[in-house]
Amino acid sequence: MERSVRWARRARARLIELREDPASAPAVIVTNPGQAQFGIVQGGTDPALRTESVQATVAIGFEAYAIGGLSVGEPVDVMYEVVGHTAPQLPADRPRYLMGTGMPDDLVECVARGVDMFDCVLPTRNARNGQLLTQHGVLVIKNAQYATDGRPPDPDCGCYTCRHFSRAYLRHLYMAGEMTAATLMTVHNLYFYLDLMRRIRDAIGFGSFEKLRSEFLQTFSRRPQPH
Ligand SMILES: [Zn+2]
Repeated sequence: MERSVRWARRARARLIELREDPASAPAVIVTNPGQAQFGIVQGGTDPALRTESVQATVAIGFEAYAIGGLSVGEPVDVMYEVVGHTAPQLPADRPRYLMGTGMPDDLVECVARGVDMFDCVLPTRNARNGQLLTQHGVLVIKNAQYATDGRPPDPDCGCYTCRHFSRAYLRHLYMAGEMTAATLMTVHNLYFYLDLMRRIRDAIGFGSFEKLRSEFLQTFSRRPQPH
């Protein structure tokens, strides 16, 4: 945690130096001078270290802040606890980014705890492994039940894949080792995530986020569902 703070200080100083006097480092090609630099909060699962890390990182001063060191194998309730402890201590007027967290219910639960942004390999990696994420949970396309299933992967979804292809066809592509299966399922999963975040933003705007949260948690299950 202390090393992260030292790195943050050096990185911030260097970025400001390059912004103010790019001629001092002619070898550095600044392609995006307006980019935001994120300070990363560490501290594992220790609340006191998290608080110390927040204070030291915010004191340096960044355009935005990230919560690092989570989703690395700890139980999900511990992750929620650390996010719930850490996110509210970050400045309200700066984006808060939770690194590497990615199940759809995690997004909903961590927004509830004050997070704005996420990134994760899950939507694309799971798509390549034949897992489609839907409102109801995970659909495992290789399951035999989909071999003659003419319905779209998710009948409620507006994505290109769901509007054009059946479960049976996607399963056929997947079982044949055809790369198109990975592409089409990635299209669906990314659409699902972007749509979920859009619905979350709308619900916050309309003051109905808690309603969305309870409805989502009622219908979404992590275990593969018979769809
Ligand atoms: Zn879809």
